[in-house]
Amino acid sequence: MLYLLFLLLPVAAFTSWYAGYRSKIHNVKKTSPNLPRDYFIGLKYLIEEQPDKAVDVFIKLLEVNSDTVETHLALGSLFRRRGEVDRAIRIHQNLIARPQLTKTQRVHAMSALAEDYLRAGVLDRAENLFLELIKLDSNSAASYTYLLDIYEQQKDWDKAITYANKLQNKHGIAMHMTIAHYYCELNDPRKALAIDKACVRAELLLSEEHLAAGNYKDAIRLCKKAVDYSPDYISEVIRPLAAAFEGLHDDVGCIKYLQDCLARYPRISIILVLAGFLRKHNGDFAAIEFITEQMTHYPSLRGLDCLTDLYVDNSDGNTREKLLLLQKVMHDLLGERPIYRCQECGFASKVLYWHCPSCRRWGLVKPIHGLEGD
Ligand SMILES: [Zn+2]
Repeated sequence: MLYLLFLLLPVAAFTSWYAGYRSKIHNVKKTSPNLPRDYFIGLKYLIEEQPDKAVDVFIKLLEVNSDTVETHLALGSLFRRRGEVDRAIRIHQNLIARPQLTKTQRVHAMSALAEDYLRAGVLDRAENLFLELIKLDSNSAASYTYLLDIYEQQKDWDKAITYANKLQNKHGIAMHMTIAHYYCELNDPRKALAIDKACVRAELLLSEEHLAAGNYKDAIRLCKKAVDYSPDYISEVIRPLAAAFEGLHDDVGCIKYLQDCLARYPRISIILVLAGFLRKHNGDFAAIEFITEQMTHYPSLRGLDCLTDLYVDNSDGNTREKLLLLQKVMHDLLGERPIYRCQECGFASKVLYWHCPSCRRWGLVKPIHGLEGD
């Protein structure tokens, strides 16, 4: 592929020179058909495996006119995709320096150069170019999207909110869920919920705030709302929910709500908290019976792990030795399993990322359900 790319350069340069030569012989009777000396210098650099010098020579030779702009853009894009961003930048800078470009060609070249800078991590230059592009071509949603990428990388959430709003207003692209996450990054769950009332992250942040302040009823109200709007995240909601009920010394209320939840959403995180209450009020064997009964309906590795722990605590001698071995195997098995997975790209982790590190989408990394998950 690399060699193909480097072959394209001399071919493009030759085509450009030949087009120029043909137009000259229409106007001038006697013109030397000799190839420019630089062409051979470029080839010499290629043969000597000095590609950077060869690229410079061929770019100089590749006359910029309406026929060759597309070649420049295609070559630059190829270099960027290959990760050779410095070369892409040189090609696009060379293109932009030409005064004869049309407005559309200039916009394409600037956009390509801005993408090069973004890829190279030169964020301030990329930002300036995308801002300039918005002034030149405000119809393009792409510049706004790239700007958001830059502000996310810089964690400049205020600017991200401003440009996400502009993108939404100008281009009708729904950004409310993303903007709510930006407000959560600013630790402002109230504004996040004003933008997106179903933002589970904001509900969790706010319920933690209420828990810390001792406003247990408000925390419970928010957790219940989170369960209704986002049942996928029950395993995250259940801890602050149980803590708030505990703050009110209301085990009965908590058990009643969780039983109702379990009927709607069969999740091992609910079963284990209910088993904890049974253990506290009725003893270990009541908890064992409950989990075993639930596991016949909803098989779960975490349920099996909890059962093993309970059996270890209630056994002795040789049986206990064997159960300890089983317990170790279960802990090792679960220790290797991811807990969360991105619904968009499949990225899996043991940590809940609100912003997927792989596909960079917001709010799509969710707890894994089923046998190996919640
Ligand atoms: Zn992802």
